[in-house]
Formats: sequence, C-alpha cells, structure tokens
Amino acid sequence: MQLLEAKSGATTKDYPYSGKLIVLTGPSGVGKGTLMRSLLARHPDLYYSVSATTRLPRPGEIDGKHYYFMDRGKFEQSVARGEFLEWAEFAGNYYGTPCEPVIKQIQRGKSVVLEIELEGARQVRASFPSAHSIFILPPSLTELEQRIRGRGQDPEDAIARRLHRAQEEMNAAAEFDVQIVNDDFETALNSIEATLFS
Ligand code: 5GP
Repeated sequence: MQLLEAKSGATTKDYPYSGKLIVLTGPSGVGKGTLMRSLLARHPDLYYSVSATTRLPRPGEIDGKHYYFMDRGKFEQSVARGEFLEWAEFAGNYYGTPCEPVIKQIQRGKSVVLEIELEGARQVRASFPSAHSIFILPPSLTELEQRIRGRGQDPEDAIARRLHRAQEEMNAAAEFDVQIVNDDFETALNSIEATLFS
C-alpha cells in the first residue's frame, strides 16, 4: 500500500491513503498531454484530475473535461478559500488543481494523475513527499519549438513565453524522481508505465 504523507493538514487527514499521487511535468509542447491520455486509456483505473484555468478554451476544449475555465476573480476566490492542492501562474494565466476530488479519489484507493507545470509540481512534492514525480523531456529545444509552432494554437507572444519557460523547467528536471525523453512516443509511454507499475 502506498502511503501519502501530508506536511500541512488543511487538505489531508492523519491516516494512510491507498492511492498513489502521480505528477507528470514537462515543458509545454513536450507531449505530456498525449502521453497522459494514452496512459489513462491503457489504465482506466487511473483518475485524471481536471485542472482549473483562467486561459481561454482552445478550439475543441470542453469546460469540465479539459479544464474548468474560469475568470481571474473566481480563480482568486478559490485560492483564498484554500480550494487548490497547488496553483501557479503560467504564461500569463492561472492554473490550479482542485483539492477535494484528488483527496477523495486517493482515499478511495484510486491513483490520481496530475499533469501540471513545475511550480505546481514543487508544491505537490512539498505537501506529498511520497508522490511519484515524472519529468518529460523533449529530444531537444529545437524539436520542442517545432512542436509548439506546429500546434498552431498559440499567438506569437505566448509561444515566446512558453519557450522561455520551457528552458527554465528543463533545468529543474533532475528534481524529479524520474526523467523520460519523449522522442519515440511508445518508448516514452512504456517507460512511464514501468516506473508506475513495476
Ligand atoms: P496549456 O495552456 O498548454 O493547457 O497548459 C500550460 C501548462 O499548464 C502545462 O505545462 C500544463 O501542464 C500546466 N497545467 C495544467 N493544469 C495545471 C494545474 O492544475 N496546475 C499547474 N500548476 N499547472 C497546470
């Protein structure tokens, strides 16, 4: 049984949980969203935590499925009420993990996957030292830029901010339990499974 230890008590109780908390981090555009979706498809027992964000929905994104889209005022209220397990500002928008569903699932024995950026991952690691933290790296920064541009969904200033942040995030990869390079998709997915289930 996996024990999750919490440092501060607001969101957790003093008894062992049975689910794992899995944190997937890596620079924007590295493909961690696709890896995570494949992981969930192959392991339907995993629970994906839907984040809140103040970013506008991209074409095809559905409120409550991809994110809970909200304005800054509502997000800040949730922060003030302590409703996030972690939250951070990224490329001009807020992102946060609603606390309650995560704790509930872990208490039920489900393993929960968070797909979040570096600052949030650091907060989670501080609150839950036993979380499994995985960092996904691109084969190179050039390749990452091509992937972000190829996505064609972000304005130029957002791309520049994401690339700058990507370099900062990659510098922190060694903080994580495991580092996996997403060069060949299937190999990367198998490596994630190997660290989680073996
Ligand atoms: P995007 O705007 O491309 O969907 O996400 C931008 C970044 O925010 C990605 O690195 C993604 O992993 C991260 N992110 C998504 N949800 C959360 C969250 O709840 N908390 C934090 N800290 N980062 C998040």
